[in-house]
Amino acid sequence: MQLNFSGLRALVTGAGKGIGRDTVKALYASGARVVAVSRTDSDLVSLSKECPGIEPVCVDLGDWEATERALGAVGPVDLLVNNAAILLPQPFLEVTKEVFDRSFNVNLRSVFQVSQIVAQGMINRGVPGSIVNVSSMVAHVTFPNLSTYCSTKGAMTMLTKAMALELGPHKIRVNSVNPTVVLTNMGKMVSADPEFSRKLKERHPLRKFAEVDDVVNSILFLLSDQSASTSGSGILVDAGYLAS
Ligand code: NDP
Repeated sequence: MQLNFSGLRALVTGAGKGIGRDTVKALYASGARVVAVSRTDSDLVSLSKECPGIEPVCVDLGDWEATERALGAVGPVDLLVNNAAILLPQPFLEVTKEVFDRSFNVNLRSVFQVSQIVAQGMINRGVPGSIVNVSSMVAHVTFPNLSTYCSTKGAMTMLTKAMALELGPHKIRVNSVNPTVVLTNMGKMVSADPEFSRKLKERHPLRKFAEVDDVVNSILFLLSDQSASTSGSGILVDAGYLAS
């Protein structure tokens, strides 16, 4: 699917590594101007070399005030990908306040904050827009030691619907993508045990995990006019896992 985002400006969070990084590259290749937001400056430096002209913004999205300073005046944005997230595994009985707060601040609160900034800008300009929240299949099914992470993604399902409801009248669509394991740094961490990884893969009807490109393609589809009547919805990129 060849999409053309020429003339549009996109903002991608968590742009330094993994799915976010490849999303920036795909949007850039499709003609969009891209604001790349991430936490580690060296990632943004190397990404800027690969994609000359992108606008790097280095900020910790878990810090509300720093995010306001970095993105409060970000200017016109037509496409938003809320992708940044962390996964800090802990058994339920050992979940700490620090891990809970940090996880919800990065994975969910920043989605509220960045989306408010971007959506308000779209409404002020009177232009349509599309927002994609990168969620997970764990919004629907849970795994041991992931109660906090799964809760952030479960909450994202309802946030996606709430945003779709309130922003729809302004012609802003909001959807999610919900992948299974993708072998980025995060995915490698959760599937580090080879026996666990093998068994988990076997539980997928397609007997595989998802590729970064599979997720990026779904993100781009939801950002594009090809999904013009889709809002408040989610695309599972789960190799069939939830069908079983
Ligand atoms: P990675 O850990 O590979 O990359 C995450 C990126 O987000 C990094 O560049 C990271 O920067 C950035 N980031 C994290 N915290 C912050 C922060 N506080 N402020 C700014 N940037 C931040 O993750 P993935 O690419 O795998 O994950 C992307 C999305 O996909 C996430 O929402 C994740 O939940 C979701 N997902 C991933 C799956 C997987 O198996 N990989 C499966 C299902 C969903 P830095 O490294 O500098 O902290």
